[in-house]
Amino acid sequence: MNSCYKNKLNKYIWEASIEEVKRGFIEEDEAYKCIICEEEFEKGQV
Ligand SMILES: [Zn+2]
Repeated sequence: MNSCYKNKLNKYIWEASIEEVKRGFIEEDEAYKCIICEEEFEKGQV
């Protein structure tokens, strides 16, 4: 299991679309954000 799941479900999971929940992250202007732990991944790093 991903370590992301150790905590709570945060608000992002409720705001995310089905597709985003399946991906596990939401897309923002400059970064992707994990909907579980709110970790951010800057675009261009991946
Ligand atoms: Zn995470």
